[in-house]
Amino acid sequence: MEQKIKKLLSTIVHPESGRNILESGIVERVDLQEGKIAVTLRFDKARDPFALKIKHQIQEILAKELPFDKERITVFFKEAAPHAQQPAGRRTQTGGIGKILAVASGKGGVGKSTVTANLALILRNMGYRVGILDADIYGPSQPKMFGVEDYLPEAERIDGEDCILPADAMDIKLMSIGFFIKPSDALIWRDAMATNALRQMIHQTKWGGLDFLLIDLPPGTGGVHLAVISELKITGAVIVSTPQQVAVADVRRGVEMFRAEKIEIPVVGIIENMAWFTPKELPENRYYLFGRGGARAFAEKNDVPFLGEIPIVQSVMDGSEEGRPAAGTDPMVESCYRSIAEKIVENMTKSC
Ligand code: ADP
Repeated sequence: MEQKIKKLLSTIVHPESGRNILESGIVERVDLQEGKIAVTLRFDKARDPFALKIKHQIQEILAKELPFDKERITVFFKEAAPHAQQPAGRRTQTGGIGKILAVASGKGGVGKSTVTANLALILRNMGYRVGILDADIYGPSQPKMFGVEDYLPEAERIDGEDCILPADAMDIKLMSIGFFIKPSDALIWRDAMATNALRQMIHQTKWGGLDFLLIDLPPGTGGVHLAVISELKITGAVIVSTPQQVAVADVRRGVEMFRAEKIEIPVVGIIENMAWFTPKELPENRYYLFGRGGARAFAEKNDVPFLGEIPIVQSVMDGSEEGRPAAGTDPMVESCYRSIAEKIVENMTKSC
């Protein structure tokens, strides 16, 4: 019986590798006990998007060919430490996407993800078709920003190609590394696992037609940046900084990364987040807690366009917590972002 089960399993192919699940080692073991079949699968990446599809295929074929009901066929998943792959060394343009905008920052916590989410929403409100690729492996926060933390990306075969479907949040297509790696995953696995999963997200996500794809990069400069840059033809990059971070070398390193030889991605501009604080009871007052004019000066000195400032506002923080970016609910925040988004569109049309 076990041989027969294995033979049936060998007819199922993993869509990404094109190899059958027995020969490629995905089937780790098959147990037959008390009239039940248990198949244990081991995937190379956490939350392989094809796992569910393969599980259903196994249950279907075994139930059809053997005298077992589906209820008595259990499929277990195990996740193995992945092997890091070599960068493919090519840059591909994802079909159907107009412009790809990377959002970067020198350090974490400056509001890069918040800015990405709000910019996406404003661009959508301006009538563009927008997607977000959340590649921030250290803190993938886009699912929370849009209230879709529970989304489980599934694979589907569309027009003869295997695709992963993004979440649809407020009419924005969203794919996040957070859908694939869990906060409990050991940090040491993250880079390798993330690079594998990212590559798959980049090439297999069914975005449909998009005018803008925004990429929420991890802070700083590193392997994930290289992977994204080498796999995708990025049209331009924006850098988010706070007033106190702008003087720090990390921001300049970010600009240099995009401008480096062979990378040569135009820097569309710098956004100063948390530029000042206005208390609710004194709406006319602006307190420049961390200094004033730093980002503008940095922009001038480094020949980078200055895109605008966003103050510290309670609604921005609340919006992130509640899954509704504030640019859609607070008119003051919306006006800051609209002016920035218009400059981005203009600069990208001009220089990218
Ligand atoms: P990063 O992506 O750079 O790590 P986040 O976007 O996660 O940073 O933002 C860090 C924290 O700061 C979040 O709690 C976010 O809600 C808050 N935040 C970001 N920008 C603002 C702002 N303009 N006003 C108030 N809070 C903000």
